[in-house]
Amino acid sequence: MSRTLIEQNPDLRFADIDVRQLAHRAGRTPFFAYDRSAIDARIRKLRAMLPSGMHLHYSIKANPMPAVVHYLATRVDGFDVASAAEMALALNAGTAPTEIGFAGPGKSRDDLRRAVASGINIHAESATQLRLLTALGWELGVQPNVAIRVNPDFHVGHSGMRMGGGAAPFGVDVDQMPALLRELETREIALAGFHVFWGSQCLHAPTVIQAQRQSAELIAQLSDGLRTLPRFVNLGGGFGIPYFPGEAPLDLEAVCEAMHEWLPPLHEKLPGTKAILELGRYLVGEAGIYVCRVIDHKVSAGRTFLITDGGLHHHLAASGNFGQVLRRNFPVVLGNRPDDAPRQRCHVVGCLCTPLDRLADDVELPEAHIGDFVVVSQSGAYGRSASPIHFLSHPEPVEMLV
Ligand SMILES: *Cc1c(COP(=O)(O)O)cnc(C)c1O
Repeated sequence: MSRTLIEQNPDLRFADIDVRQLAHRAGRTPFFAYDRSAIDARIRKLRAMLPSGMHLHYSIKANPMPAVVHYLATRVDGFDVASAAEMALALNAGTAPTEIGFAGPGKSRDDLRRAVASGINIHAESATQLRLLTALGWELGVQPNVAIRVNPDFHVGHSGMRMGGGAAPFGVDVDQMPALLRELETREIALAGFHVFWGSQCLHAPTVIQAQRQSAELIAQLSDGLRTLPRFVNLGGGFGIPYFPGEAPLDLEAVCEAMHEWLPPLHEKLPGTKAILELGRYLVGEAGIYVCRVIDHKVSAGRTFLITDGGLHHHLAASGNFGQVLRRNFPVVLGNRPDDAPRQRCHVVGCLCTPLDRLADDVELPEAHIGDFVVVSQSGAYGRSASPIHFLSHPEPVEMLV
């Protein structure tokens, strides 16, 4: 398809496939295509470096396409879900309920009832959720598997998206944990596990290492004095992928080497407790492309615009999330033109009536014609499901796992 694509990700089999052939398979543009072999290669690489006691979970919200979830079910040790629908998806993929964790600050009573009935691990994020879970356990006549999500008391620098350390709607503050753990014991509920999630999209290995070490220490400290040890501890993930020019991939080797140092002491302190790493985008983000077609080509005030049949309604992240302060381009190529063709500077936009609908600002691409295929890479996570699909009521994009 394009040398640039291969350079970006050598595991991407798409690079060898003619984009027109992919488009025929999809039936129409725009479409998302996810590459099985690239997902598989990423997981193999990770598994080869992780310490043997580290379990790997996939966060379904990164890409909930059922085919992707089913494919991953045989390759990861469990799933993290964030809604009752994601829970159903994980269960339908054949995953054991005890290998599924359900986090989220606003789980409804109905969500919780379904979760308790199914036997999955529910990550309580407040005293209210804990009380509801106890009541539902009585109502349904089952012991709910209750874990507690802790809002860490440390800050991480460098992380793309912080989700802890300070005031947050996620998890329970560390200083409120002793009271909550006592309440759990008076309610005679055995603690299933702890969950610490400190951030997302982090490319800086020292930050990941520090956050994981601190999470492990925090959990060891919280476990002091518990009547029974937790069955699992979920230490978050946060591994980022490079999206923009100048970003380097995460130094996985450094992160895993450190894990070989901090994991054994945690296992010593909590023998028999399972340690879990939960990753979303790191497993699937680089394995996906978004493909749309140039449907018009025009020049305005000396600038060339390529107008496509895609846009922010399918791929909000590539457009810059509704007017992000500092908008940067995702990597874009023309899938049907050789990289060494004569080039031109242009702006690639979507088909929506808003100036925010941009896929690439002022990029140099091979000279484009109507009918050409624009390929946006790094699109396997937070694409279709994280976009305002109904905005302007255009058709939905096709999704396929190739
Ligand atoms: C979103 C989320 C993840 C996945 O984050 P990625 O950046 O995709 O790895 C993991 N855990 C929790 C609790 C989340 O909310």
